[in-house]
Amino acid sequence: FNINMEQLQLNEELGKGNYGTVKKVLHKPTNVAMAMKEIRLELDSAKLNAIIMELDILHRAVAPEIVEFYGAFFIESCVYYCMEYMDAGSLDKLQGAGVPEDVLSRIAASMVRGLKFLKDDLQIIHRDVKPTNVLVNKKGEIKLCDFGVSGQLEKSLAKTNIGCQSYMAPERIKGESQNNLGTYTVSSDVWSLGLSIIEIGLGQYPYPPETYSNVFAQLTAIVHGDPPELPDDRYSDEARHWVARCLAKKPEDRASYSELLEHPFLQSDRTRENVDMVGWVQKALEYRERKLAKEREAACNNHLQSA
Ligand code: ADP
Repeated sequence: FNINMEQLQLNEELGKGNYGTVKKVLHKPTNVAMAMKEIRLELDSAKLNAIIMELDILHRAVAPEIVEFYGAFFIESCVYYCMEYMDAGSLDKLQGAGVPEDVLSRIAASMVRGLKFLKDDLQIIHRDVKPTNVLVNKKGEIKLCDFGVSGQLEKSLAKTNIGCQSYMAPERIKGESQNNLGTYTVSSDVWSLGLSIIEIGLGQYPYPPETYSNVFAQLTAIVHGDPPELPDDRYSDEARHWVARCLAKKPEDRASYSELLEHPFLQSDRTRENVDMVGWVQKALEYRERKLAKEREAACNNHLQSA
C-alpha cells in the first residue's frame, strides 16, 4: 500500500545528512516504527513523480543485509522516504570503542552479501558505500542503505560537495576531474568497501583531514599514495589481506564479491557461530553514550567559564 504523511506520527530526529534530516516516525495504521528521510529538492512535480516511480524498484530490494524500504511520497518540493528503523544507528557512530576481528568480519560479510545481492538480483551498483550508510540494530544485524536507484534523484543531488571524507576510488577521483562520469563499475564500490572496513577497524577515517593541508592533497594521496592498511597489532594477516584485495589501486586488480566471500577472513566467520554481535552493539552504544555525556559536560563547563 502507499504511505502518506497523514498516517505518520512524527517523533524525534535521528540525524542530519548532507541532503536532509532523518526522523523517527510511527506508521499509525500498522504501528510500525520507521525512519523517514526528508530530502528538499527544487523540482517540478513531474520530476518529483519520476523520482517516486524510480524509487519503486526498492520494493524488490528485500534481503537480510538491506534496510527495508516502505514507500516514498512528496509534498511540495520535498521527497519523503520511509524505511526500516535501525535502533542502533549508523556504523560510523559505533566504531569508537574498538571492533574485534570476529565482529569486523561479520560486518564485512554482511556488507559484501548486501552489495552482491544488489548487483546480482537488481543490477544496482551502490555508489555510496561508507560507514554512515551501514545501519545497525540491537539484534546485531548490519544492513546497507542509501544506494543509487533513481537517476533523477542522483542528478538532483548534484554531488559537487565531496566533503572532507572521500570514499571514492582513485579512478573515480581521476574520472571526476576529467568529467568522465560514465565509468562507475562495481569495483569502485569494492574500493569504498575496503576503505569503510579500515575506518571501522581503526575507528577513524584512514586519510585524516588533519594530515593534509587541503582536500587536494588528500585526494592526491588517495590517487597516488599507497593504499591504507588495517593495523597489524590488532588484526590478523587474513583480515589485512582481505582489505588489501579491496584496495588495489587499479580497479581491474580488485577482488570480486565472490572472491571476497570465499576469502579465509570471511570463511572463518562462518565457522565461528557464536560471534556476540548483540553484546558488541550494546557495548558500542554504551561507549557512545558515555562519550556524548562527557562532551555535554565539557560544553557546559566551557559555557560556565565564559559566563
Ligand atoms: P548521509 O546523507 O550522511 O548519508 P542520512 O541523511 O542518510 O546521512 O542519515 C543521517 C543520519 O540519520 C545517519 O547518520 C543515521 O544516524 C540516521 N539514520 C538514517 N537512516 C536511519 C534509519 N533507517 N534508522 C535509524 N537511523 C537512521
